[in-house]
Amino acid sequence: PEAIVVSELANRMAERVGEVVKALMQMGMMVTQNQTIDADTAELIIQEFGHKVVRVSDSDVEDVINEVDDKEEEMVSRPPVITIMGHVDHGKTSLLDAIRDARVVAGEAGGITQHIGAYQVTTDGGSVLSFLDTPGHAAFTSMRSRGAQVTDIVVLVVAADDAVMPQTVEAIAHAKAAGVPMIVAINKIDRPAANPTKVRTDLLQHEVVVEAMSGDVQDVEVSAVTGQGLDQLLEAIALQAEILELKANPNRAAQGAVIEAQLDVGRGPVATVLVQKGTLRQGDIFVVGEQYGKVRALINDKGERVKEAGPSVPVEVLGLNGTPEAGDVLNVTETEAQAREIAEYREKAAKDKRAAAGAATTLEQLMAKA
Ligand code: GDP
Ligand code: MG
Repeated sequence: PEAIVVSELANRMAERVGEVVKALMQMGMMVTQNQTIDADTAELIIQEFGHKVVRVSDSDVEDVINEVDDKEEEMVSRPPVITIMGHVDHGKTSLLDAIRDARVVAGEAGGITQHIGAYQVTTDGGSVLSFLDTPGHAAFTSMRSRGAQVTDIVVLVVAADDAVMPQTVEAIAHAKAAGVPMIVAINKIDRPAANPTKVRTDLLQHEVVVEAMSGDVQDVEVSAVTGQGLDQLLEAIALQAEILELKANPNRAAQGAVIEAQLDVGRGPVATVLVQKGTLRQGDIFVVGEQYGKVRALINDKGERVKEAGPSVPVEVLGLNGTPEAGDVLNVTETEAQAREIAEYREKAAKDKRAAAGAATTLEQLMAKA
């Protein structure tokens, strides 16, 4: 069981440390403020002082953040979340920009978009798609390693004038490991040297059999420069999403993943969060990784303030006490005490882990020298 230093316990209860030492004495325990007492004793003291016990352990954290079992009838369709992957220079960034710009010009007044790490577009067919604006494998793998699986569909970009390259192969491996379906975008189709057939046959060697080769992986020829095939690509994604039958319960405490976060000079710590379950609202109290906070404002991908964000919606969240990391999971909690306790527990656990790792290294170094 966890233990706590007397002065820290007094501090957390906002009681005088002398009073706590006195209460312990009355219970027959002679301790000073710098000594440690076990969790059971601490609990008695907390009750003695009329406070509520919030004991935090790994399983408590799990309980708080997973308390809701979503019922089938509460599940509602949600937009797919798409990550674009592929070899360097094959056109990931150009494609993300082209999709965003085409849709903004077509559908929205003003036409100004914010780069908040993710954006949503609506296809001509009326489907809403959420794109992660951070192409690249590092983002995908670091998110996954931090426990956040946010991607539903990978768009694998392969340049038609270059075909399959090492990072193409890597992207295929990542998508397969994550169990995420792929759609192949054969890009740069406008180039005179474009050879889409070579792309398709190259992919066969990596067990990616596209529809044009009688397989079941959709492939679309596109050009991020001319805009050719972009609508078909979006419809292919919408179709794939339909097959996946993606659902989430919008009526529960929100859970989401941090796409990116930074300390903003004017606004303080800001995190772009992709909501995954429930609905995140202004005023919600939350814990996110080792940080916590209360939603002061939510800003969507168009730079507009919004009151709430449901499943698959990316929003900037203001009101954090510190800057979380990409891949951290955000959970709305009932009370601020809960959020703070969990954040502090995680911070301490991480510190302990680092200290243990440090100690191990030192021991190893000693052994190496001996
Ligand atoms: P990334 O490294 O995968 O993000 O690739 P970029 O989007 O930065 O594109 C690399 C280069 O290819 C840039 O010079 C782009 O202008 C160019 N490019 C991207 N897509 C196309 C395309 O569809 N057609 C042509 N002709 N050039 C493209
Ligand atoms: Mg790029």
